[in-house]
Amino acid sequence: MKRPIYMDYQATTPVDPRVLEGMLPYFTESYGNAASNSHAFGWEAAAAVKTARERCARILGAEPIDILFTSGSTEGINLAVKGVAGARGAAGDRRGRIITCVTEHPAVLDSVAYLEQDGFDVVRLPVDADGRIDLAELESAIDEHTILVSLMAANNEIGTIHPIGEIGRICEQRGVLFFCDATQGVGKIPLDVRRDRIDILSFTGHKMYGPKGVGALYVRKAHPNVRLKCQIHGGGHERNMRSGTLNIPGIVGLGLACELARLEFETESARLRRLRDRLHRGITKGLDDVRVNGPLEDRLPGNLNLSFAYVDGEALMMDMKDVAVSSGSACNSTSLEASHVLQAIRPAEELQHASIRFGLGRMTTEAEVERVIELTTQSVRRLREMSPLYQLTKREGRSGPEVTDTSSGPDSAAGGG
Ligand SMILES: *Cc1c(COP(=O)(O)O)cnc(C)c1O
Repeated sequence: MKRPIYMDYQATTPVDPRVLEGMLPYFTESYGNAASNSHAFGWEAAAAVKTARERCARILGAEPIDILFTSGSTEGINLAVKGVAGARGAAGDRRGRIITCVTEHPAVLDSVAYLEQDGFDVVRLPVDADGRIDLAELESAIDEHTILVSLMAANNEIGTIHPIGEIGRICEQRGVLFFCDATQGVGKIPLDVRRDRIDILSFTGHKMYGPKGVGALYVRKAHPNVRLKCQIHGGGHERNMRSGTLNIPGIVGLGLACELARLEFETESARLRRLRDRLHRGITKGLDDVRVNGPLEDRLPGNLNLSFAYVDGEALMMDMKDVAVSSGSACNSTSLEASHVLQAIRPAEELQHASIRFGLGRMTTEAEVERVIELTTQSVRRLREMSPLYQLTKREGRSGPEVTDTSSGPDSAAGGG
């Protein structure tokens, strides 16, 4: 069976062969425990961890001592959010305020909801139609009890990039810790923890051509030291904040993935932006009533999220089986409900439009993009031909309400009046 074209790079990425090659010796030859300090096996492992830590730090503009290895971003986010709450939240009668926004990843939203049940005051900032927060709203949400602002660098569904430097500056001025879920940002957009005034930052290997099951948390050690309450107790690894024997091959792979991303970031993001824009133009040239979810500027280069009016989401996903993409329905369950991100940016009547997230990445080729344009156009046309509402609307010469997009090319203007 021919496999579909992979366009789901915001869900996960393949391991870059150069990363895999660097990891292999650490499974079967240099298999020591980095905590074994009495023999060469342990020293080799510790040296590999040291190099990886330096590489993870370098891509963030951090110091190696600021990097903790985790099992991925979900763990890093839990440690950051619950760790800050545990270290800071107990003082006084009030347990403290945590500010986040409605389009964050479930790892953030569920962690803050857990703390809310425990008495913390959670503010979830709304977003505009492009998924952007209002910085004035952020400022006025920060009160004297606020202990943490948790905002993502880039959204995994609609690609919106938050103004991380401006958010960092606001938090610094107000003396509030800033945690950034940069899982979609590291290696894709310019981030620098010092310039952007980030106190804690999480990322993961498998979204940046490294292995699954390994990630890192940046926790600033100096000026002043950011304190987190340990969530996984044991042998005292990772500055006593995260116990457990280190995943050496994974950590080596994460380090290599950071190094490759750092070196290739500029050419690769320009290439992805060009391919993404080509995909967008190609699809909207052949189809009307297509709307972009998320902004056209300040957007992840490899992300395109489109809504197709007059088409049912499930039917479109079934029809597009030759392309591996994500639908705009809740990605973490079998539910067909529109995702919390689309619900935050679209009025209810638009949520039944089929939405597809196209995620492009390092292995995406121009030929694949051309093929996906063809396949998407064919599928949407075929389904619309079967839609009585679409036929009726087109016969009456109206263009679809609320769905035309100025960026949709010349065809979307057809039929007005
Ligand atoms: C994938 C993702 C996560 C979760 O990362 P894991 O390493 O898979 O646990 C968190 N936040 C965002 C924005 C993501 O895209």
